[in-house]
Amino acid sequence: MALVPMRQILEEAEKGKYGVGAYNVNNMEQLQGILWAAEETKSPVILQVSKTALEYTDKELLVAMVKVIANKYNDIPIALHLDHGSNLELVKEVIDLGFTSVMIDGSLEKDGKTPRSFDDNVRVTKEVAEYAHPLGVTVEGELGTLGGIEDGIAASEVILTDPDDAKRFVEETGVDALAIAIGTSHGAYKFKATPKLALDIAEKVHQDLPNVFLVMHGSSSVPQDLVEEINAYGGKVAKAMGVPIEVIQEAIGLGVRKINIDTDGRLAFTGAIRKYFHEHPEVFDQRKYLGKGREAIHKWVKSKMIDFGTAGHAHDYQPLTLEDMKKFYSNR
Ligand SMILES: [Zn+2]
Repeated sequence: MALVPMRQILEEAEKGKYGVGAYNVNNMEQLQGILWAAEETKSPVILQVSKTALEYTDKELLVAMVKVIANKYNDIPIALHLDHGSNLELVKEVIDLGFTSVMIDGSLEKDGKTPRSFDDNVRVTKEVAEYAHPLGVTVEGELGTLGGIEDGIAASEVILTDPDDAKRFVEETGVDALAIAIGTSHGAYKFKATPKLALDIAEKVHQDLPNVFLVMHGSSSVPQDLVEEINAYGGKVAKAMGVPIEVIQEAIGLGVRKINIDTDGRLAFTGAIRKYFHEHPEVFDQRKYLGKGREAIHKWVKSKMIDFGTAGHAHDYQPLTLEDMKKFYSNR
């Protein structure tokens, strides 16, 4: 179907008390693998694209592929979301391209490292919401900072989200979704041991703000079988712990609705291709090895859709358009 606003997907997830994975897209194989999984499990899906992915792919080409595939999967609600938008110019650009949702990460200064003050974060985020909402586009903000590195986002220190600040932040900015820092971290090298997340923060923020959809970034599980597959076929990925699936499920139970897990998809894709190269050193047909990567994404996304409870919910609702959302925001 035509792309739907991310807000609708998250509202439905809130009603059904399940989580929705946000799957990063940089190429055709990822896109197809994700949609195959969504179709098979009948799941709504959030496709997200980072600034560096837009640069890598040629933004018009990537968005054209997303729109073509969205029209093919007529019964699957799909939102197209900007991951870690850094400024209003980029937000304007992607809304012109047809994105139905944007993240403005106002938690860090322009250097991508230094935490921004609360007031500056409010100012940057509010400016984006005031631009995007009259166009019907969903807005995700971020409060607190995560550790780790993702597409050039590298916080130097971890600052957990304060629930009182979260309340003020949402009131002042009007965001639809809020990325909270509860101890998760971007990338594959998160923790040396099983992490202790501050799930009580998620619970409190959800109680205070039941109409704001909570987002967990940096929530890859870094499954050991995926790391071992890479290393068994010539890779060198150091052992690390991610966020165990049970912890994500607990967070969903406490009100988290959007889960960002890009690293695990990278691991799955890479391991499958490494294995194929090792077993078929004579092959040099890109379709053969990229096809293995695509199959790995398909299998991995399918398992996440089941784990997060997204599976089976694609038919729950009539899709809204950006026009419908314009009315929603103007009446708010
Ligand atoms: Zn992130």
